[in-house]
Amino acid sequence: MYYEVHTENIAARGHAPEIARILNRFALHRQDGEPVGYEKLATALLPEFGDDLMILEPTGDGDYRWLHFGCEIIRYSGASRLGKRLSEMRERVARFSIDSFDQALAEDRPLYTVHRSTQTVRVSLWERLVLPTTTRDGRRFIVAFSRPLQFREDLLNAVLESSPSGIVALRAIRDAAGTIEQAVVVTANRRASELSGRAEADLLDTDGRESLSFLSDPSVWRRCLYAIDLQRPDTLEVSFMREDATTWLRVAIAPLGDGLLLTLTDITDLTVANQTLQMRAATLALEIGRERATRRALSEEIGLREERETELRRLAETDPLTALLNRRSFTEKANAAIAASEAEGTGLAMIIVDLDHFKQVNDTYGHPAGDAVIRAFADLLLGQFRNERNLVGRFGGEEFGILLRDCDLASAAASARRIQDALLARAMPVSETLALKVTASLGVASRQAGEALASLTARADQALYRAKNEGRNRLGLADPLSVAEAA
Ligand code: GH3
Ligand code: MG
Ligand code: MG
Repeated sequence: MYYEVHTENIAARGHAPEIARILNRFALHRQDGEPVGYEKLATALLPEFGDDLMILEPTGDGDYRWLHFGCEIIRYSGASRLGKRLSEMRERVARFSIDSFDQALAEDRPLYTVHRSTQTVRVSLWERLVLPTTTRDGRRFIVAFSRPLQFREDLLNAVLESSPSGIVALRAIRDAAGTIEQAVVVTANRRASELSGRAEADLLDTDGRESLSFLSDPSVWRRCLYAIDLQRPDTLEVSFMREDATTWLRVAIAPLGDGLLLTLTDITDLTVANQTLQMRAATLALEIGRERATRRALSEEIGLREERETELRRLAETDPLTALLNRRSFTEKANAAIAASEAEGTGLAMIIVDLDHFKQVNDTYGHPAGDAVIRAFADLLLGQFRNERNLVGRFGGEEFGILLRDCDLASAAASARRIQDALLARAMPVSETLALKVTASLGVASRQAGEALASLTARADQALYRAKNEGRNRLGLADPLSVAEAA
């Protein structure tokens, strides 16, 4: 329980003006530091202050009994305690009172006390001036002035008025059948009147649905009715126009008797901030989505372009009929291979093949059949020479070139012979029913130190023509270069 006990500055502390005056009289009655006589003081105080006074006598067993109980005190506390013992009060108030009265008597000086009321509904705090007196026959009496210091409703009003939330109490008005027809505003604080846009006085006794615009919304009203009927609290958020702007309120609904207590919190700023955030989040999500789509489209486009470029490069490098390297790319790659073998110090050889009497194939079986033979012969060459390091190209018509890495003249000649053997062993398929036997003439040259591609090709070509001239279906080996030619 809350209480204060003071021995100093009592006149200044006392809230009721009577306290200073009574204290003054008490001082006048104290002579030469002697205890103040009860009879004289009582006579002086009772006529003027008796309604607020109580007089108590110690019972000798640690308790006090009332000898006087002022009618003002009865008015606030509800009943007289005359003749009763102090210990019959609520224990904590009784303890505090006995202790403070004992102290006043023991120290023989006035006390000023404040204590919380535990029993009196309307009173929140009491103040007391406690005076020790002595009767003529030597008994000690307490004379105490007692006044409510703070009323509960004052306290509640202060809380209500200083609340940053709007608070409105509504009472249900029911028809004969018990159905709620209206909810009348019985209390509204300042904030509620600000939020409703009406003066406090204009709010009281009005129909809540008419004076608090958000209550006229049927769904809000329905939830209020549920809260009353089910005696269950509820919370909702409402918006309405006020001074040309949307106001957002959080409304806490609490059932109160046959009615409601509404607590209104302005959440406009919060709501606007929230909406702005949500909008920003949505815009961001949209932008992220767009960017992702763009990135996806871009990477697809890049992929397509890369594929197309690879295809174009392949087409540019290859002969369309046979898919072998064309002359141009064979030349490029052969030059690179020559540079590499130069760096490695390894040998390199060239074979040039030309099919014999090919004109006759065309003439006899038609050009498409000739194409088929060229394709089949290209496959034969690829089967025999395809690896990462060798190059197989179509020089034109039925003439092919093969560049062999890590190779000398003897092993190149052996490779050339394997081509001849293959042609001897099998006919070139033209259609399901036709396959043609062809022969070829070949020229073989191995690269001399420092020799350029053109020279190597020319020597292989010469060897080929020698083979043609010598009757075809044979192998011509190029002569080694003289030292002068190589330079
Ligand atoms: P040889 O080489 O033995 O001297 O006689 P050949 O008949 O093969 O003579 P030549 O090399 O002069 O003729 C090549 C023939 O190949 C001429 C042309 O009709 C034919 N030819 C060239 N390119 C193609 C082609 O792409 N397809 C077809 N079917 N024939 C082609
Ligand atoms: Mg030919
Ligand atoms: Mg030819």
